[in-house]
Amino acid sequence: MSPVLRGPILWTTERSFVRRLITEHPIGRRIAERFVAGDSLEAGMAAARDLDAAGIRAMLDHLGENVSSPAQAAAAADGYVAALKRIRESPEFGSNISVKLTQLGLDLGAATCQENMERVLQVAGEAEPILVMIDMEAREYVDRTLQVYLALRERYPNVGVCLQAYLFRTAEDVRRIAGRRAIVRMAKGAYLEPKDVAYQRMPDIRRNYARLAATLLSAGSTVHFATHDPRLVHGAARYVTRRGVPRERFEFQLLNGVRRDIQAELVAQGQPVRVYIPYGTQWYPYLTRRLAERPANVYFFLSNAVRR
Ligand SMILES: Cc1cc2nc3c(=O)[nH]c(=O)nc-3n(C[C@H](O)[C@H](O)[C@H](O)COP(=O)(O)OP(=O)(O)OC[C@H]3O[C@@H](n4cnc5c(N)ncnc54)[C@H](O)[C@@H]3O)c2cc1C
Repeated sequence: MSPVLRGPILWTTERSFVRRLITEHPIGRRIAERFVAGDSLEAGMAAARDLDAAGIRAMLDHLGENVSSPAQAAAAADGYVAALKRIRESPEFGSNISVKLTQLGLDLGAATCQENMERVLQVAGEAEPILVMIDMEAREYVDRTLQVYLALRERYPNVGVCLQAYLFRTAEDVRRIAGRRAIVRMAKGAYLEPKDVAYQRMPDIRRNYARLAATLLSAGSTVHFATHDPRLVHGAARYVTRRGVPRERFEFQLLNGVRRDIQAELVAQGQPVRVYIPYGTQWYPYLTRRLAERPANVYFFLSNAVRR
């Protein structure tokens, strides 16, 4: 992540002509293909199959966010129900799913969103339960996301949530949700957040990440280390070994197309590893966050676009 360039990159990619350029240009699609498995659920499952062969599990994400009608939110829930059914046809892969609450109607009200989540969780909870993780979105959604998560976990043990180490508030959120029932994905945070709410310097974000993950593990929570940062990955591996954290209470998670060297290294060490597999046609916002994390991805796009 480059905190300095994140703002300008996200600002630029929000311009409608830039969006058109990237989504309509073959190079834009090629860059997206590095991170996104393809347009369909079957493309996501094909990626899960390849990962399984490499000793890695998959977390499927049907791309989409900020829907503006109840029909779109219900359709997103239908998409996840279809994904869960497909996952059950290949139980040997051990896949699970991750959802965004704004995709399930959070902007239309917590009740609409919760209804859609319940439909997904009921199917996920049948027979062998499948874990449903909730992505964390920009800061204005954190309160509502945690409210929906806390209400749901009373009835569904197979739900977990992502927390972002760059936010000051996360220390308090950890205190609120930590405990045996909590399944938490720790990520640094992928949005552009101002300095009055979020750490801006990488050493501060890293320090907070390590502290929060340790607090959660000490409280008996399950922690998913979602990072490609070698310092955090190695620190987490040392921590779980030293403390004898049981294997079912942690895993390492990476994004599709990012740091395959670390995926392989962790598998070779015998660590539990899962890769986040996005699929679907709504890949643009997801791609912009990946570009902002690594400006080299933007230079790659620009140099290829200019050369053609
Ligand atoms: C499984 C998973 C789920 C996530 N879920 C969420 C979520 O719900 N909400 C949220 O806000 N954020 C989420 N994130 C994103 C996260 O917050 C960070 O933005 C992202 O992981 C980059 O931070 P990093 O910890 O990998 O460290 P960085 O310091 O950014 O990266 C470390 C190294 O990884 C490589 N790298 C990182 N990103 C890229 C990239 N885009 N392209 C190419 N190489 C890259 C580079 O080699 C870099 O040096 C998730 C991340 C993962 C892995």
